[in-house]
Amino acid sequence: MTAPVLGIEDLSVSYTTPHGPLQAVSGVDLSVGPGEIVGIIGESGCGKSTLVAAIMGMLPGSARIGSGAIRFGGRDLVGLPREEMRKLRGGGLALVSQNPMTAFNPVHTIGRQLTDFQHREGVSNAVKRARITDMFDQVGITDPSRRLHAYPHEFSGGMLQRMAIAAALLTRPQLIIADEPTTALDVTLEAQIIALLRRTRDEQGCSILFVSHHLGAVAQLCDRVLVMYAGVVVEAAPVAELFRHPAHPYTQRLLACDPALDAGGDQPLPTIAGQVPNLVNPPEGCRFAPRCLCATGRCVRERPQPVELAPAHAAACHLVAP
Ligand code: SF4
Repeated sequence: MTAPVLGIEDLSVSYTTPHGPLQAVSGVDLSVGPGEIVGIIGESGCGKSTLVAAIMGMLPGSARIGSGAIRFGGRDLVGLPREEMRKLRGGGLALVSQNPMTAFNPVHTIGRQLTDFQHREGVSNAVKRARITDMFDQVGITDPSRRLHAYPHEFSGGMLQRMAIAAALLTRPQLIIADEPTTALDVTLEAQIIALLRRTRDEQGCSILFVSHHLGAVAQLCDRVLVMYAGVVVEAAPVAELFRHPAHPYTQRLLACDPALDAGGDQPLPTIAGQVPNLVNPPEGCRFAPRCLCATGRCVRERPQPVELAPAHAAACHLVAP
C-alpha cells in the first residue's frame, strides 16, 4: 500500500481557558494519499481550523497537543523545531487560509513577494515573473503587469484570496491545505478556483486537504470527505458515498441544511437545533446527543466508536450497523 502524504494519528489538541482546558480536537485520525483530495466539513467550532493550525505548526501559545502524531515527509511534525517547520511551509506544505491578508507582507509589492515565494525554483526572475503572469491568468486576475507593482492593501478581499491561491500553487507543494479558500469569492470565481485546484492536482500530482463549509464545492472537488463534530471525526467516506448515503445523524442533518437545496419560496431554511457543546466540559457519551433526534440513554452514557459500513466508509454512531 502506498504511504500517505499526510498521516494523522490519534491527535488531540486543547486550549487553556480560565474555565479549564477546552478540547478542540479529540483523537482525530486522518490520512491524505498521494494525489488525493480530502475534504473536511462541519459547522464552525467543530475543530477544523485547529486541525489545520496543528498541521501547519501555527497553533497559538494557549494551545497544547496532548497526544498523537502528524506524519508528513517521513517526519512527525509534532514537536518539530520552529525553524524546521518554517522550511516546510512554502516548501512541501502550502496553506491557503481563510484570511488572505495574513498571506502577504503589507510593506512589499505583490510582485516582489510572489517572486520571493519561488526562491527554491532555481530559475531567473524573468521566468518567475512569467510564471506569475500565467498564474494570474489562471486565477482570473487581469492586467498582471500593473498588479505586480501594487501593494496588498490595494486589492479587494476576493482578489487577495486569488493571489494567495496563486502564491501557494507557485511553490509547487506536495500538500496544499486550503482552509475555506473560496469563502470570500462569488460563485463564478469559486467555480474557477475549484477547477484550478483540480487541474493542479492532475498536472502536478500534489495532494489537497480542503476544509470548507460549502458542501457543493466539496462535492465537486474532493475524492473523500471527513465530517467533524465538536472536535471528533463522526463520519468518513468517499465523496459520492457520503452525499448519497450519509449514515451519521449529524451528517444527514448537515446535508439537509445545505442552502444549495433551498427550493425558493417562503419556507425557512432548515437548521440543526441547538449549538455545538461547550468543549471545556463536553458530553460524556456522543457529543451530538444533545442535538440528535435519535438519541437514546446509551448515547448519553457511552461514546460511540467508528463502525465500518462499506469500504472506506465509517461512522461513529450507536445506531449504525455494518
Ligand atoms: Fe445520535 Fe446516538 Fe448516533 Fe450520537 S450515537 S449520533 S446521539 S444516535
